[in-house]
Amino acid sequence: MIGVSITFFGVLLLAVIAYAGWSSNQTAIERERTLLENALNQSIAGALDQQKSVAWWDDAVVKITKNAIDLDFVDANFGIFLTETYGHDEVYILDGSDRPLYAFWEAERRDPSTFERRRQTVAGMLAELWRGEHPNLKLRPDIFSESQGNYRLLAGAVQAARWAGHIISVDGRPAVVAALTIVPNVDMSLLKGKPNVLVSITYIDEAFVAKIGRSLLLLDLGLSPKPAQGDGVLSEAFVGDDSVAMGYLSWTTRRPGHVLLTIILPLVAFGVIATAVLSMTILRRLRQASDELALRESQARYEAKHDALSGLPNRVYMVEKIESFLRVAGRGQRRAVAAYIDIDRFKDINDTLGHEAGDHLIKLVAARLKARLRPKDFLSRFGGDEFVILTVPAAPGGDAGLAERVSHAFASPFSINGQSIRVTASVGIALAPDNGVTADELMRHADIALYQAKNTGRDRAVLFAAEMASEVEHRRSIELELRAALESELLRLHYQPIISCRTGDIVGVEALLRWYHPVHGEISPAAFIPIAENSGLLPELGEWVLDRAMSDAARWPKLDVAVNLSPVQFRHVDLDATLRALVAKHDVDPGRFVLEITEGVLLKATDHTGSILKAIGSMGFKTALDDFGTGYASLAYLCNFKFDKIKIERSFVSSVSKLDTSRRIVQSVVTLGRGLGMDIVAEGVETETEAVMMAELGCTELQGYYFSRPIDADAMTELLRVFQPWHLVRAVRAAGE
Ligand code: C2E
Ligand code: CA
Repeated sequence: MIGVSITFFGVLLLAVIAYAGWSSNQTAIERERTLLENALNQSIAGALDQQKSVAWWDDAVVKITKNAIDLDFVDANFGIFLTETYGHDEVYILDGSDRPLYAFWEAERRDPSTFERRRQTVAGMLAELWRGEHPNLKLRPDIFSESQGNYRLLAGAVQAARWAGHIISVDGRPAVVAALTIVPNVDMSLLKGKPNVLVSITYIDEAFVAKIGRSLLLLDLGLSPKPAQGDGVLSEAFVGDDSVAMGYLSWTTRRPGHVLLTIILPLVAFGVIATAVLSMTILRRLRQASDELALRESQARYEAKHDALSGLPNRVYMVEKIESFLRVAGRGQRRAVAAYIDIDRFKDINDTLGHEAGDHLIKLVAARLKARLRPKDFLSRFGGDEFVILTVPAAPGGDAGLAERVSHAFASPFSINGQSIRVTASVGIALAPDNGVTADELMRHADIALYQAKNTGRDRAVLFAAEMASEVEHRRSIELELRAALESELLRLHYQPIISCRTGDIVGVEALLRWYHPVHGEISPAAFIPIAENSGLLPELGEWVLDRAMSDAARWPKLDVAVNLSPVQFRHVDLDATLRALVAKHDVDPGRFVLEITEGVLLKATDHTGSILKAIGSMGFKTALDDFGTGYASLAYLCNFKFDKIKIERSFVSSVSKLDTSRRIVQSVVTLGRGLGMDIVAEGVETETEAVMMAELGCTELQGYYFSRPIDADAMTELLRVFQPWHLVRAVRAAGE
């Protein structure tokens, strides 16, 4: 639209300029023509004027009569005077009846009869002179009469003064032919009858034309038989008043529009084109920009609803969608299924293989899930490693099918960075309307089912059941409170002494975490540590424990301090960095610290596990294999990894007095451990009997309620002050000797 109007106005402007140029040229030509015409008229009037100087004269009337002509007088005043003074070429005098009385041409008086050769030519003009207009002659404005306004002759009663003037062809040559009656200028009575007539012919030759040209500033005005050629040259046919063509008048016109047409018009045309091109470019840019804007807007709208990594719809989109799923299901009296999917131990993958690998896994999982779903199912990613599927199964009980499809998606290992990794997922499923009729309720219940799936061993799908809610709520609240407790230092470390069988003295302590809950009272670490592990709180919690233990360790410079490490913490990539930083911070000897690791860590042994163990060892920390004997075939680990201590699990200690198998197992562990140069710690020693037996079986250290419950640091300091070396030591030693 804008383009069209620019073109329209551009063309209009050019047309106006072109027209202005053309018309000013035309006007100039018109003017030049008029001027020329005027000049010719003037030349006629001039000829008449010149004739008048002698023809309207009393003497002329008197000296030229039919009967007697004073030839000397006539020669001097007519023939010679007019030809020499005014350049007339031929001069004739006729009587009232057009009979020739006198002729003068080519500088000589001629026989009057020579007029006959011109009679034909001037006949029309003579007729005009006597009777007014002649039909065959062009009418010219009578400039002569206008210039005679105050001449007495014209004002007077005598109407004898007559004249006629024309440009006509004489022998094919253009000529100004003028005829004027010879009448008195003073004494009118001298005129008798019809007056004589003076006729003169002045040829229009080059000189004649050139003179007119000069007067009109048309310097090259010329007369030629053929039209002249040239730039800006105008050639007009020169036609006599008798309609005879006598060649061409040519001159260079001024062409005032020339500049307009040759300079301004092209300039403006250029300007118009440039403007058009410019505005087209601007328009195109504008359109591009607005297209881009629209695109970006739609992209933004898309991005707002989609997850950048997997390209799946995000939570926002899911929330929008779930209502419509519920409606569709409600209409068909069917169930809507919401499934929460969480990749098991995704954080570990992220931590050990790096975030890029984690991202890659997310994409692969998204693709696999997508491939398993039907087109109408809705798959979205909630960020992290959580996905949600919404579906309305065609058949009742379709949720089982969904669980299967999800588990199929994880059946084969994923290939990440060239490694083949087996990944499992936990799924929480909730059905509408059974488990909730609002989107909110449904999603919350699916989430609870997921939580349950995670806590019952992962790699499974769990359908929501009402009783889960309260349990999960409880764990949830603990999780939240634990976070708060960590922040507000409601956690404490207690210490339980470890007694050397050799000296009977306290040689070390084990740091054990305590949480005093304002409502629930003391909560066992056995209960809240797994919650911390699951909620990602553990790295922080573990660091807090290490930090506190190292700071408390300064109070008991002679004791070793054992600290429990969670598998989660252990797998945490920067454990060695954390330890190094803490050692530096507290300026402690790592050799005083025993890091207790459960078999769980070794069970999932990877290169990473090995290298961390090595790093810990090379820093100088001692290591202990905790809870030894809790069910795994652990003996192999003892050979693979070099531990400083083995801690025999409490159940062995308590059953050793009753079960032979326990005794034998303990016996072989002690033999093997001591053979490898390790200390053997008996945990959970509650009675003197147990203490003696474990000592006798070869354990090097003892720990348990029998000696002391875990107590706070102040109590520990006090205990150290009052502690009497265990009195059975000597007996045991004696027994051993
Ligand atoms: P654990 O490493 O096996 O710790 C020994 C547990 O046995 C402690 O329970 C201790 O109080 C208890 N105990 C000691 N002597 C006796 C006894 O004679 N009889 C009985 N029945 N029990 C005895 P606690 O403090 O409840 O800790 C439970 C578990 O929580 C610990 O088992 C350890 O695995 C974990 N834990 C405690 N503190 C921490 C910690 O700071 N970090 C990590 N990651 N885990 C911790
Ligand atoms: Ca322990």
